[in-house]
Order: sequence, then structure tokens, then C-alpha cells
Amino acid sequence: TDLERDLERFTAVVHDYPTPGVVFQDLAGAYRHAGLLRAAGRELARRARGTFNAVVGIEARGFILASVLAADAGVPLVLARKPGKTPGKIQSTTYRSEYSEDQLEIPADALGPQHDVLVIDDVLATGGTLEAARLLVEACGARVSRFGVITQIAALGGASRLAPTPVDALRTVP
Ligand code: IMP
Repeated sequence: TDLERDLERFTAVVHDYPTPGVVFQDLAGAYRHAGLLRAAGRELARRARGTFNAVVGIEARGFILASVLAADAGVPLVLARKPGKTPGKIQSTTYRSEYSEDQLEIPADALGPQHDVLVIDDVLATGGTLEAARLLVEACGARVSRFGVITQIAALGGASRLAPTPVDALRTVP
């Protein structure tokens, strides 16, 4: 598709970043390209249509995509943040991603049994981050209906780790 071609064209591939051995998909160029971010958000919303009534975005690069998507879809946006940035009662979990160990937190009262959640991030690598997000959503009593990302790195097996919840990826790299 045109969208997939544009995403490929405006993604920079950086070897050994941020640590040796990692092949980093840098989407900053895609975000910089006028119109592409909105098109990506619309396409992910289209694929997930009818399955969600809330969006969770992952700090920080996931926020950007999640915000245009949630605004377009007219549903609430809940922020899954790195530690120490969410006041009040929180749900929190520690997880491993492709190149870091980290923590995610969401406000405990932001989601409940009435919510079917589309969880959004920029890149799916090992799936550790999105699995952590699912744990937080479920700890609030809600469900994850789908995951959506711009790019998935197939070799790292994230989608099978997240199964049976479906993953929409606008681009898959080997
Ligand atoms: P995972 O938890 O291993 O799936 O890693 C995904 C998380 O790490 C996401 O929040 C991404 O922002 C980040 N990440 C991992 N690999 C890349 C990459 O190649 N480019 C950009 N972000 C990445």
C-alpha cells in the first residue's frame, strides 16, 4: 500500500542503537512527514473499528500516535507512563523490552469493566512492553481487544507472545 511504502521510506534504520546488536527502527522521520502520522492513526483505527471504546498509549513515542488516533476515533486516551509521573492511585508493573528494563504505570481509576481497549505503541519488538500494558489494563478490570503499532519486528516474536489478542501492524520488518 501507499501508506506502507511511505512508512518504509521515512523510517531510518540505525544499527547498534541504543545498544550494540540492536537494529533500531527510527520513526522520527515518519512523524516529521506531514500527514503520515494522521494517516497511520486512521488506518489503525479503521482496522480496529468496532472493537474498542478506549485507547491506551505507551510513553513516549506511542503517545504521539495514540493521541491522533483517539482524537479521530472520539474515545478516551489513557496514558501508560514511565515511573513517577502519574499522581494518585496507580497500577504498576516492571517489564523487559528489547533493550531496557522498565516500569509502566496507569491511573487505577482510568479504566474499568466497561472498557475494551486498543493499546498503541510505535514499535513492537519482543512484546514485553505491550504485555505489560495488557497486565495493567486487566488489573483495572478492563480488557485489551487489540494492539496497534506502526512497525513490528517479526524476528523478535512479539505477536505470538501477545496471542490470542490480535496485533495490527502497518509494516512488518524481518
Ligand atoms: P518490546 O517491549 O521488546 O516489544 O519493545 C518495544 C518498545 O521498545 C517500544 O516501546 C518501542 O518504543 C521500543 N523499541 C524497541 N525496538 C525499537 C526500535 O527498533 N525502534 C523504536 N523503538 C523500539
